[in-house]
Amino acid sequence: MSVNLQTPIDYLKGVGPNRADLLRSELGIHTYQDLINLFPNRYIDRTCYYTINQLQRNTSEVQIIGVITDVREIAQKRGKRLVATFQDDTGIMELVWFRGQKWIRESLKFNTPYVIFGKTNWFNNRFSMPHPEMELQEDHEKSLRSAMQAVYPSTEKLSNKGITNRVIVKIMQQLFIETKGKFVETLSKDLLDNQKLLSKSEALFNVHFPRNQELLSKAEFRLKFEELFYIQLQLILKNLIHKSKIKGLPFNKVGNYFNTFFKEHLPFELTNAQKRVLKEIRQDLGSNAQMNRLLQGDVGSGKTIVAFMSILIALDNGFQACLMAPTEILSVQHYNELFELCNKLNISVELLTGSTKTSNRKDIHENLENGELQVLIGTHALLEDKVKFKNLGLAIIDEQHRFGVAQRSKLWKKNTSPPHILVMTATPIPRTLAMSLYGDLDISIIDELPAGRKPIKTVHRYDTNRLKVFRFIRDEIAKGRQIYIVYPLIQESSKLDYKDLMDGYESIVREFPQPNYQISIVHGKMKSEDKDYEMQRFIKGETNIMVATTVIEVGVNVPNASVMIIESAERFGLSQLHQLRGRVGRGAEQSYCILMTSFKLSQDSKTRLETMVKSSDGFEIAEVDLKLRGPGDIMGTQQSGILNLKIADVIKDKDILQHARYCAKQLLKTDSSLSKPENKVILHTYQQMSKYKNIWNYIS
Ligand code: ADP
Ligand code: MG
Repeated sequence: MSVNLQTPIDYLKGVGPNRADLLRSELGIHTYQDLINLFPNRYIDRTCYYTINQLQRNTSEVQIIGVITDVREIAQKRGKRLVATFQDDTGIMELVWFRGQKWIRESLKFNTPYVIFGKTNWFNNRFSMPHPEMELQEDHEKSLRSAMQAVYPSTEKLSNKGITNRVIVKIMQQLFIETKGKFVETLSKDLLDNQKLLSKSEALFNVHFPRNQELLSKAEFRLKFEELFYIQLQLILKNLIHKSKIKGLPFNKVGNYFNTFFKEHLPFELTNAQKRVLKEIRQDLGSNAQMNRLLQGDVGSGKTIVAFMSILIALDNGFQACLMAPTEILSVQHYNELFELCNKLNISVELLTGSTKTSNRKDIHENLENGELQVLIGTHALLEDKVKFKNLGLAIIDEQHRFGVAQRSKLWKKNTSPPHILVMTATPIPRTLAMSLYGDLDISIIDELPAGRKPIKTVHRYDTNRLKVFRFIRDEIAKGRQIYIVYPLIQESSKLDYKDLMDGYESIVREFPQPNYQISIVHGKMKSEDKDYEMQRFIKGETNIMVATTVIEVGVNVPNASVMIIESAERFGLSQLHQLRGRVGRGAEQSYCILMTSFKLSQDSKTRLETMVKSSDGFEIAEVDLKLRGPGDIMGTQQSGILNLKIADVIKDKDILQHARYCAKQLLKTDSSLSKPENKVILHTYQQMSKYKNIWNYIS
């Protein structure tokens, strides 16, 4: 009978209650299973020995055989240290302990060969090794040896409490002894054969006690594949179930609205990417399933027109549509853009936000319910219960990272059968991550900017160059351009940030005095009508400079604004910088982005600034961002399925991820319910995982 891997770790020989507590609190190891899934950070070669005369001052970790000839205590500023003389045939060095001296002193054996292992220091003209791992040579030779010894993740507390790497290795060995190294296979025979994967037992053995480099690589591959495979399987299954369970509203035809617009009013030729995405959307809408699609496209890639044409399909099929944006400014802007297009086609469209007047609001509610109003644009106000549609067929959400899943589901309930949903975001998520996180949404990507766009020139300038920058601003204004100057107001409540903004504003007012120059200012502390007023002045071209905080980050469209100056740029994250830069480059003129910083920059800040100067590709920038910040920071922890990976890494292992996704898809194509006998093991593993593991946490 095999050992139950859900056995609490306390039961493992050599663990005991104290160690069990530490393993739980420090490494989250509660069960045998958790221990087996504690994967090494790296490996060291324990078949290779140094002699003392071979030590170099920069050698890192070494292993030496020798004997202890003397032990003494040496007083130091605080307490004392224990020092042992250690020697081999070639020389003498010292072993040093700062803690646990009594116990160590009692246990040391003189003139008996030890194998010691650790980092060496050069101190007082001699090599020393603090807190060496040591083992009598005869024991060392008896124990399970491998050319590559695992080094496990550890914490300071663990090593202070004597749970060194060697102890963990011992515990791991014990686990393999108790289980006889036999672990239940978790992948099907087909997968093992076709993908040439090691068996589970072989893989686990070789990842903890690699026999050689080749087997180690194969072991890692197998375990990473498995981990990613089950996550993908889960996401894809969820998507399939969704599609089969939730009937979509039938949008069978493309009718007059769409065709007339396409033939007569389309203001430009669509890019190939826009065409492809529209096709994907049309396919969804025409299928029997409810659409749940994420549309990713860099700033300026032209998502709005795609949204509008999707709306036309809804109207062609006799349904209403709505478009929701996260801020008042953005909704107004969408409304203005779409209003003109709708007018040409005699489509009724209204705007609903927090500041819509009560009388107006009543009309909107009425016309929405009786079906006279076809398109509604607005903010969260759309989600209120009072807002009832006659037959909502399509809901579009712009800038999804501001809206949660909960809000998505509120939209669902606006109709007896859920409307089709299109979520648009300009914050590109690297494909691999998107695939893993939003596997339950279908993804469309606009990866091409409209032709004829001039790339934005981006430069990095130090604060000491400010006068030159002012001169540049003056020249651009003289040419009729408008300028954004953005300050970090990272926390709206931060007094210091706010002061920076106001100081900056005052110095700009001094530098660019009235009546020659007009300046707008917008920040989060202002009332929304004041914000709008200032915004409108800038949009109409009445002001030359817009001093703002990141409230203008998303979506604001003023084509005549061609210069974006970002103050204290080192304080912004990469994706935010990219979003801000996207506010310019929307017109025919050459645009500029100037990143201002002080001289003092961290390495990460430098990388961010260099990336911005070098690249204008949102996806490339997102990849760098992901590398700098790690996926957790980017996505927020609630979507952490992919972020709790034990062995795989979404960035480094993206090829394996893609492959695992492909395999999961293929499998479900032939056996969507995992009911074939040969896939029983997969079904079983899948069910076990949902029971014990937290990888499905974020699935509602
Ligand atoms: P975003 O994807 O950032 O929302 P928009 O939809 O606001 O981008 O489009 C940015 C600008 O590009 C708009 O002024 C829009 O009219 C224009 N545009 C969109 N698609 C095209 C195209 N195919 N050819 C030329 N201009 C386009
Ligand atoms: Mg937009």
